[in-house]
Amino acid sequence: MLHNGTVVQTLTRFAAIVSSGLAPARRRLRLTIGTHLALALAVIGAVVFVGQSIATRTSRTAMEAVRSMELEYEPRARRAATIIEKLTAYDRSVAEYLETQRSADDHLISAARAELDSAVASYYEGPEADTGAPPDLRRQLMGHESRGRELADGAAQRAQWLQKRRMLLEGVNRRIASAGGTGLLIANNQVLARRSLAELATAISALREAETTDALERAEQSMRAALQANQAELARSPGSAWLELVWDDFRAASHLRASIERFDAGSEAARRQFLEEGSVLMIAAQTQLQEPARASLAAAAQRAASAAAGAQHTLTKTGVTVTAGLLLVSVLLALSITLPVRRLTAVTRRLAAGRRDVRARRGGLAELDELAESFNAMADQIATVESELRGQQAQLERHVAERTRQLHHLAHHDPLTQLPNRRHLSTELAAALARAAQSGRRTALLFVDLDNFKSINDTLGHTFGDHVLKGIGDRLQQAAGPRAFIARLGGDEFTVLLEDAGSEEQLGKRVGALLEALQQPLAVHGRVLSTSASIGASLYPDHARDADALLRAADVALFRAKDLGRNRFALYSPELYDAAAYHFRMEQSLRRAVEAGELLLLYQPQVALHTLEAVGVEALLRWRKPDGRLATAAEFIHIAEKTGLMRELTSWVLRSATSTVTAWRTLGWHQACVAINVSAPQFFETDFVDKVAKALEVTGVPPQALELELTETVMQTGPATITALRRLRELGVAIALDDFGIGYSSLTSLEQLPITRVKLDRTLVGGIDSSPRSAAIARSVIALCHGLGLQVVAEGVERPGQLEFLSQCGPVSVQGFLLGRPVEMELARKEADQAAARARELLAPAHASGAARPSERSSLVFVAAPRRVTPR
Ligand code: C2E
Ligand code: CA
Ligand code: CA
Repeated sequence: MLHNGTVVQTLTRFAAIVSSGLAPARRRLRLTIGTHLALALAVIGAVVFVGQSIATRTSRTAMEAVRSMELEYEPRARRAATIIEKLTAYDRSVAEYLETQRSADDHLISAARAELDSAVASYYEGPEADTGAPPDLRRQLMGHESRGRELADGAAQRAQWLQKRRMLLEGVNRRIASAGGTGLLIANNQVLARRSLAELATAISALREAETTDALERAEQSMRAALQANQAELARSPGSAWLELVWDDFRAASHLRASIERFDAGSEAARRQFLEEGSVLMIAAQTQLQEPARASLAAAAQRAASAAAGAQHTLTKTGVTVTAGLLLVSVLLALSITLPVRRLTAVTRRLAAGRRDVRARRGGLAELDELAESFNAMADQIATVESELRGQQAQLERHVAERTRQLHHLAHHDPLTQLPNRRHLSTELAAALARAAQSGRRTALLFVDLDNFKSINDTLGHTFGDHVLKGIGDRLQQAAGPRAFIARLGGDEFTVLLEDAGSEEQLGKRVGALLEALQQPLAVHGRVLSTSASIGASLYPDHARDADALLRAADVALFRAKDLGRNRFALYSPELYDAAAYHFRMEQSLRRAVEAGELLLLYQPQVALHTLEAVGVEALLRWRKPDGRLATAAEFIHIAEKTGLMRELTSWVLRSATSTVTAWRTLGWHQACVAINVSAPQFFETDFVDKVAKALEVTGVPPQALELELTETVMQTGPATITALRRLRELGVAIALDDFGIGYSSLTSLEQLPITRVKLDRTLVGGIDSSPRSAAIARSVIALCHGLGLQVVAEGVERPGQLEFLSQCGPVSVQGFLLGRPVEMELARKEADQAAARARELLAPAHASGAARPSERSSLVFVAAPRRVTPR
């Protein structure tokens, strides 16, 4: 029988073999959950199989034990029982025979012996005989049988002896009786007997009747005594022969009695011994034959029972093992899944919480191992990406910090001069005022504005202007000293903050020094410029107690300084503020004027001297004040330009002038042409050319009837300007360079720009009739323009001398009070005609002398009108 411990060992070994066989492959091949389950189920199946076979084998053993019990021990036990039974029967038959001594019983003994014999023989020699049975017992049984036989034979002998004695005594009795021992019947029924015989009769009868040994001995003695006593008598009668016979019989009977007694004395012991032996043998048969068989039977039964119990046990154990195995497999499987999953969950949580160094433990089931591997790969990737990100972030942060620093610098500094800007000034001013409030010292705020910077910028270009501004900034810094705070507010405006400014006089001296420093020639890009500035100043706490008010005060003072002319210093006073307020009010009312339609255009005629005809009019802006007074352009244009109103004004002028031309043409003035003034900022608007085209299209004015007057400021600003000018030229619009001859007029612009006309400024024309030098300049400029194919208009002609001079300079047009004043649109044609007439009138003597060449005159000559001198 395979023991359960062996099963476990076998299974363990099997598992060890399986795992050792898989060990090398494990590194390459992880077992999947399915494989694990299959393996575990296979092991459980093996356990079930082994348990089943053990149980089968055990139960077969039990069956065999039962069968061997049936075949071997049971017959043996039964035969042993038969022996005992037959022995009992034999002993009983012997005992009964000894008691009864019937001859019939003798057969019973033989039969019982035969049966006993056969029972013994059957036990010892029959099929499935007990070879290990004790041979002594058989011999003893045989001996016992013989002794029984002997006892029976002895008893039979005794019975014969008893019979013979009785017959002997009977014969004696009969001899006595026949001898008259029993009496002789005589008369009267009297019985008469001899005494000797009678004694004999009595004795014999007593002898015959005696039962016990003592009674027998006494009766024999009586008999012997009676015989001896009567010997003689009896020898006589009935005779000695008779007597002899009686003696013989008597003696034989007595001898037999003695033999019987002797036999009886020995037979009782033999009988008891036989019976005892029978009992002993019976016990022996029981103990030696029956009991071993029974014991074997019991043992077999025991074995069968234990085999059955074993099978049961094995089955139970198998069941338990399988259940335990299943439980173990389930628990292990559950653990091998839940533990790694739990670990994975934990590391995932830690990873999610920001721990990037966590990694999942590898191993275990293939799927979970794969999961752990994927997790680790993911964690690696996250860590890598994050470290890259951190690097990038650090770089970004450095970048941002650097940009923030730059932005902060930008936010607080002027990018051109690197001086603090307006914002910086505000904080610094607030701090300075706080300090001043504590110390009780005066703080001065200076507004510095370069004179004519606009024209520097316009004529020499913005880049040059920028360098000038930087140079001025440096110079300010040097002149104001290290304790002064210099800021640039934009354009050509600088601020100087002077703490501890001292008295007004002291301040005046310091500002004077500043003005002087700014007047020093400034070298920029190989050019030496003479610059100057206007300075407005305000004092804390004298003029204002807060920063804004102080700034306003300085601004007002600057306004005043500018008003005074170049290179001036003005300290704030409340009256200045009133002037500034007036300026502000002007601005406000100009805004309203645009909306209220208080603006109007006056038209001043231009007359061509070579044809003596009016060639067109210049539109000049006017503002009709609510009191009816007409404000000239010079009064408010600079305000409009400063505030950005100029854009609206220009659009309005364009629309108004073109529709006026349309009206004139409709009314029959077919050659009507108009020139309008365009400020630089308007010309730089990207849609300005489109606006012009739109105005022409809307009004139907031919492009040739429109001329745009631009100053050099506009002309010198680069390729965008030239493109715009070309587009205008392509439209067919004429372009005049206005105010030529003042400031930094450049001859190259005459050559390079797509202009059609040049308007000589009043300053250039002013001295031509009195100063030969001016005349020479004017003449050469006009000749130069003619050389370049440009038409020329002379402005501000007030005197006939000027007119005469100009009339000798080739084909020149003239505009000025001498010929015609700016008039409203209704009067424009008339004024133009009159202007031409005046020119003719004034130049008549010259023409008469042949100075004018009629061939150059145009066929379109205005009808000359009488000169009208209108005081305007
Ligand atoms: P400007 O373009 O040089 O215009 C000519 C100015 O000279 C006009 O002054 C005109 O009245 C004045 N004038 C004409 N003949 C004589 C003369 O014989 N003697 C003197 N002393 N002056 C004469 P106004 O109208 O005050 O214009 C001043 C400036 O304002 C103009 O100078 C022009 O630059 C600007 N302006 C006038 N109207 C407009 C306009 O509609 N748009 C723009 N952007 N500027 C305009
Ligand atoms: Ca003009
Ligand atoms: Ca002009």
